Amino acid sequence: MLGMHMTHDIDHLGIKDHYLDGSIIRFACYRAYGVMRGRVSLRTFSVVMGEMLKSLTLPHYDSWDCLDEWLALEDASGIRSAWFVACRPGRGISYSTRKARVVVDRLRRHGCIVGLHSQCRDRLDLLPQELEEFSSVYNVPLPVPVRMHYLACSPGHTERMRACRDIVSYDSSVLDGTRLSSQRDFERPINIMEGNLFSPLHKQSTMTDAKQKTLRLLRVAKEQRRDVVLDFHQRSLSRCLPIEREYILWLYERMTS
Ligand SMILES: [Zn+2]
Repeated sequence: MLGMHMTHDIDHLGIKDHYLDGSIIRFACYRAYGVMRGRVSLRTFSVVMGEMLKSLTLPHYDSWDCLDEWLALEDASGIRSAWFVACRPGRGISYSTRKARVVVDRLRRHGCIVGLHSQCRDRLDLLPQELEEFSSVYNVPLPVPVRMHYLACSPGHTERMRACRDIVSYDSSVLDGTRLSSQRDFERPINIMEGNLFSPLHKQSTMTDAKQKTLRLLRVAKEQRRDVVLDFHQRSLSRCLPIEREYILWLYERMTS
């Protein structure tokens, strides 16, 4: 799709990654706090809790596993996204590489690009080692794109990433709402990320603001023959994240109509 470069971070394969690590309780507490702050309606909260309960108790249902729906959207729109997958555990990342390998193989068969969701936030000197591990575990040849988990960039990030150009095809670790990029650029800042638009805790964009901002950026990108880089997490199509889901479905419909 002209002017739109879609990317996804896989922080969760599903809610069942998190039986033991406290993430589910934190997710529920944030939404409960959102209700107290007036950012989440009681009706939405009860729907979300119902979805979580179903996902945790029914063996073949997992509301945070949205891969099928993402790939259906890609087929319908002709978009082929880049997916950033971790090969090591990290903050909030608990999935095994054995399970992630199944997802990576499926994405590659689908024609998607798979890159590293790196955990080298404070030790970029260890990135080559992590990339070798990624390549070996998922059988993906280097170079690949890289995005730091939590977009955590240490001092000197850009220069040190550039030094890895032979094994990193591009770096997409920086959030910048205005700096558009092209497929030829080594650094491709994220222009729109759902977590930066909507939060259950803080008043950020309204849905109308978010849609207007998106359309404005896509218009500029088209005029300048540049790309808007969008970052949506794998679980963001979940019915546990109804606002994010509504925005993403609107975007795909808008882009393909
Ligand atoms: Zn992440």
